[in-house]
Amino acid sequence: MSDTSSLDALIQALRRLPGVGVKSAQRMAFHLLQHDREGAQVLSRTLAQAASSVRHCERCHTFTEGAVCEVCLDPGRDATRLAVVETPADQSAMERTGAFKGLYFVLMGRLSPLDGVGPRDIGVHKLLERASDGVVQEVILATSFTAEGEATAHAIGEALKRRGVHVTRLARGVPVGSELEYVDLGTIAHALADRR
Ligand SMILES: [Zn+2]
Repeated sequence: MSDTSSLDALIQALRRLPGVGVKSAQRMAFHLLQHDREGAQVLSRTLAQAASSVRHCERCHTFTEGAVCEVCLDPGRDATRLAVVETPADQSAMERTGAFKGLYFVLMGRLSPLDGVGPRDIGVHKLLERASDGVVQEVILATSFTAEGEATAHAIGEALKRRGVHVTRLARGVPVGSELEYVDLGTIAHALADRR
């Protein structure tokens, strides 16, 4: 009988990843140990490095290795506009359009009462503080157009309006090239409401 306690520990650790069950965790562990020891070392090193050095920007909450991220430090950005996005990936997507020159607040999630994610978990209190700095003139809600994203935008928008902050919602339409019957009803409803 072989001693595999390290292997078991690895499989248990991999199972912490979202969407990874015991079968997938076993597959990953066997792959690394059987076929890619070098990859296993790289993964181990970079994971330890990132886990100890990556933190949240004090101003916008996105991932950064300094106290404040590069976007927040950039004097060329329009500090009067603040876009609220769900994830760093959404922020990157907006950056890629090149159409937004303002600053961001990254929620690092969205409201999801069923999963126990409430306003504090997505930093709404920090956002309210951030948006009331006297410089921000417009907050653009750029959360996703899913039910949870819409609920998040609504809740944040109401809280900001109570503080007298000017709030707008990212415009959207039915995706180009998609058959109407395959587009979710929420999107169609919004597209209708926004018709010109
Ligand atoms: Zn930042």
